[in-house]
Amino acid sequence: MAKRIPPVRTGDQITLTITGQSHTGDGVGKHEGFTVFVPLAIAGEQVVARINRVKKTYAHAQLEKILVTSPHRVHASCPVFAQCGGCQLQHIAYPVQLESKRRQVADSFARIGGLGEGQVLPVLGMKEPWSYRNKAQVPFGGGKGRIKAGFYAAGSHEIVEFEHCLIQQPENDAVIQQVKALVQELGIVPYDEKKHRGCLRHIMVRTGFHTGEVMVVLITNGPELPSQKKLVTGLRERVPGLASLIQNIQPRRSNVILGQESRVLWGRPVIYDMIGHVRFAISSHSFFQVNPVQTEVLYEQVRQVAALTGKETIIDAYCGIGTIGLYLAKDAARVLGVESIPQAVEDARYNAELNGIHHAAFEVGSAEEVMPRWAKEGICPDVIIVDPPRKGCAPELLNAVADMSPDRLIYVSCNPATLARDVAALKERGYLYRHVQPVDMFPHTSHVETVVLLQRQ
Ligand code: SAH
Repeated sequence: MAKRIPPVRTGDQITLTITGQSHTGDGVGKHEGFTVFVPLAIAGEQVVARINRVKKTYAHAQLEKILVTSPHRVHASCPVFAQCGGCQLQHIAYPVQLESKRRQVADSFARIGGLGEGQVLPVLGMKEPWSYRNKAQVPFGGGKGRIKAGFYAAGSHEIVEFEHCLIQQPENDAVIQQVKALVQELGIVPYDEKKHRGCLRHIMVRTGFHTGEVMVVLITNGPELPSQKKLVTGLRERVPGLASLIQNIQPRRSNVILGQESRVLWGRPVIYDMIGHVRFAISSHSFFQVNPVQTEVLYEQVRQVAALTGKETIIDAYCGIGTIGLYLAKDAARVLGVESIPQAVEDARYNAELNGIHHAAFEVGSAEEVMPRWAKEGICPDVIIVDPPRKGCAPELLNAVADMSPDRLIYVSCNPATLARDVAALKERGYLYRHVQPVDMFPHTSHVETVVLLQRQ
């Protein structure tokens, strides 16, 4: 096929009809058959846009004018919505955001998995889709005495400052402002990414939704933390609910926020929170779902399709701090979990003990190595739950699942594309998907979470 020359160039102004929403939330349209992505445009709108980036098969453009406005367009409440990269969908009415996420899952099943659209259930959304995040990670910048703290602008490392982030629990906002004020008062130098100099790189704040306990992690460029005593005293005075204050050292030139080494400056190394009836200790390095209200909705979906009777052996793969397995433990005979971060596994074991759960065991390792070994050892689970990161499951893991031949496999996914790929691969191995239920864990952002039940034929 002859290569096509893109019909647009950088700087061109075009008129475009938006026909859909991309997986990152941009409006998508075709100009002379060529795909153009326009952030902040909505399906059904006609817009004027200026091309700002041209690739071989698509281009990006900036929205300049809306000629025909979608009836689903709403005023974005956040004053920095258009600059900050945190939310992508605040300008779209919430019910329409949900339908667009359902569509995205259905499209992935049809396009990537070749599965047909199947039956993707309506997305379970939030009644009040604001103030939900229990964790904030905020970069510091600017200079000594003129500290900047905020979120990165979309696609860049420019810091967009804010006072209230509408999707954060308000406690987190308050802590960020307190840390910023103290750092400013004490003359602590923020990190300069370009020069790789300065001290404070990020802060991470986590608030227990049910307990109100707060963890503050100060991420520094090296072991030194000037005015440490004053900083600790100041934060103890100013942060209600502070239960854990940690310094984490990240000496590398890297986008990875946390370094390997952490030390407790004050309080405990963990905070506690509840998911349903189960209590969890959470440490700074461990993954913990960021939307506590919807986590219960998600885990309830898993519980329903798992249909446990108390006799089953279940495997919780990619278990983090053991949350799904421990949530289901009261209805299972045996729980096995596997997770690659050692600290998270320590937390999982401790969490089992904390809840008096004695029939759960957790192993450190990559799921794609541990699961084939378990299969060889003859472990025969009735139900396997996988909850992998965005890249999905490795083929070795899917093979091990098929070898163990559980009756039910529950796939919890944060990426419809890799989900569809893996569901298609599992179909080859005799597992048919029955129930596809997206849950909105991240309102106003383009992220989609999905629970899929697969059953052995
Ligand atoms: N089920 C948990 C965690 C899900 S997040 C919850 O709901 O809270 C995915 C987890 O998989 C993370 O904790 C991550 O550390 C872990 N992980 C990533 N790659 C892995 C791999 N190859 N093997 C095992 N665990 C992995």
